[in-house]
Amino acid sequence: MSEAKAMPRRPDEVGVPDPFPFMHPVLKKNYGQWAWHDRPRPGVLHHVAKSGDEVWTVRAGTQRQMDVLTIRKLCAIADEYAEGHVRFTTRSNIEFMVSSFEKVPALIHKLQSEGFPVGGTGNSVSMISHTQGWLHCDIPGTDASGVVKSLMDLLHKEFISEEMPNRVHITTSCCQVNCGGQGDISINVQYTKPPKINHDLIANICERPTVVARCPVAAIRPAMVNGKPSLEVDEKKCICCGACYPPCPPMQINGADSTKLAIWVGGKHSNARSRPAFHKLVVANLPNNPPRWPEVAEVVRKVL
Ligand code: SF4
Ligand code: SF4
Repeated sequence: MSEAKAMPRRPDEVGVPDPFPFMHPVLKKNYGQWAWHDRPRPGVLHHVAKSGDEVWTVRAGTQRQMDVLTIRKLCAIADEYAEGHVRFTTRSNIEFMVSSFEKVPALIHKLQSEGFPVGGTGNSVSMISHTQGWLHCDIPGTDASGVVKSLMDLLHKEFISEEMPNRVHITTSCCQVNCGGQGDISINVQYTKPPKINHDLIANICERPTVVARCPVAAIRPAMVNGKPSLEVDEKKCICCGACYPPCPPMQINGADSTKLAIWVGGKHSNARSRPAFHKLVVANLPNNPPRWPEVAEVVRKVL
């Protein structure tokens, strides 16, 4: 047996990195040994360990799509004001940990002066998470991050003042697959009509078997139209998902009259503590109206 065969195959996908080398020393020392915590002010959590050690966590929002210069700025703030440690939450908040309450006011002042809102620890509207289909996926109907920017401008006060009756998570997704939609209010793009086919372009641009295979409900069939090979859609079967558009742009589904936004509320995605539940649709057919999506913002404001 060759040496290569004798060696077990090593995975090249290793999952979440080991957090301990990067963890604040107080968190590392007291990992899993916390006695209690409180929230001395919006944006700050205070944890006390069974050992008596204390740590204060200051949370701030970011712009979601992070550039290198901003990451360097956050690291410089961590070095100067927060004992050299910063971490990101799943909602793209940043958190700085300090082992003395005296360091908290200067850290908050620095974050706010650099434009990072401090908040999101209590009953607030959290940072709005969203899918980034326009970066990595092939069926987005709009730029979900633009909707997020508009809403966060509107709801900024609810993040920093923490005066909501309860915590609220909002998400936006760029199609009805809603792959980022673990929110109390979920805003999704919806296509409302089957694709209109540009038969003149199909033969030149599309691989018809690929397009046929792409449809999840087998609504697309090869067809001859005006003597040319093309496709046809069974509109009774079509669920307007948009999956045929990326491999074949002549399947035109993203017109201004057929790309809308829908808002769903409630639901529960995990089975922790109680059973999962579906969202409920509250509003559909809102216009996809960049750059500020005012109709969507108005509905979210009313729901809140
Ligand atoms: S919501 Fe839809 S378009 Fe956006 S990333 Fe998820 S699957 Fe892709
Ligand atoms: S929009 Fe979706 S369901 Fe309709 S034809 Fe295209 S792939 Fe099939």
